[in-house]
Amino acid sequence: MQPLLEVRNLKKYFPVGKGFGPFKEKRWLKAVDDVSFTLYKGETLGLVGESGCGKSTTGRAILRLIEPTSGEVIFEGENILTLTQKEMRKKRREMQIIFQDPFASLDPRMTVAEIIAEPLRIFKYKENIKKRVEELIEKVGLSRSHLDRYPHEFSGGQRQRIGIARALALNPKLIVCDEPVSALDVSVQAQVINLLEDLQKEYGLTYIFIAHDLSVVKHISQRVAVMYLGKIVESGPVDLIFNNPKHPYTIALLSAIPVPEPGAKKERIILEGDVPSPINPPAGCSFHPRCPDKKPICTEVMPEPVELENGHVVRCHLYSGEVKRGI
Ligand code: SF4
Ligand code: MG
Repeated sequence: MQPLLEVRNLKKYFPVGKGFGPFKEKRWLKAVDDVSFTLYKGETLGLVGESGCGKSTTGRAILRLIEPTSGEVIFEGENILTLTQKEMRKKRREMQIIFQDPFASLDPRMTVAEIIAEPLRIFKYKENIKKRVEELIEKVGLSRSHLDRYPHEFSGGQRQRIGIARALALNPKLIVCDEPVSALDVSVQAQVINLLEDLQKEYGLTYIFIAHDLSVVKHISQRVAVMYLGKIVESGPVDLIFNNPKHPYTIALLSAIPVPEPGAKKERIILEGDVPSPINPPAGCSFHPRCPDKKPICTEVMPEPVELENGHVVRCHLYSGEVKRGI
């Protein structure tokens, strides 16, 4: 089966300053640094990591809302990074995004009907726009009576539903969900996630679901990728990531999820320090300043990704052989 999306060696570097001194060395903020993954139709990839790790930039670079520095984004067999802006605009109807803050992304001066109709108008929808808008508002669990109202009249969860209706308008194949529930109460989070799952089943949608919390992606994802400082440090099927995590960073993130059964004990691993700046990331493994398991090699050599089993890939020297050989 052909994947819907293949991301290969995606990089997004932002220049910072012009450099100074005799060599005028240019400095780069490596927001996304060599990210690769494959996604099949109808699947969800949960993309997880602390803020600033490059998750949103990855999502946006895939849709070319920002231009990647290098790499390949192969959508239905075609590298969309080679498309012209005009060709890309057409392609974008198949690739939509839902944002974290539905209030900021919904124009407060437009009615809900106008908001949902906007992509249909832009892409010159041939059929009855009013009918399509009514169909969409009901699909996301709101009613036609909401269509004449304005975004401020809705709760956060309802606004996110409006954002979802707008993203669905053109029947996309891929939706990047950029922290769609992070701003919502926990009870509302579950409702929005359930809605996204129902819509996925009904329309065969493929999602990249971005979150800073592993527990949020657990139920919606088939696969999970954990990012740290612009790189995927561990990825694999959701059950392997949750039951058999390998990377010390994933293990620490998982230890922060509260255990549901009362009385059950779990030791929380507190990571020391903050995420370092992506402008001057540490040498070697960029996680080494905070890693409880670091070895001498870790401060010098960046580990390469190693596949352990069934698509479970880890970027850590503990699994790459060097540490086993005692270096
Ligand atoms: Fe820790 Fe070394 Fe693995 Fe990096 S490579 S996560 S520093 S053990
Ligand atoms: Mg973000």
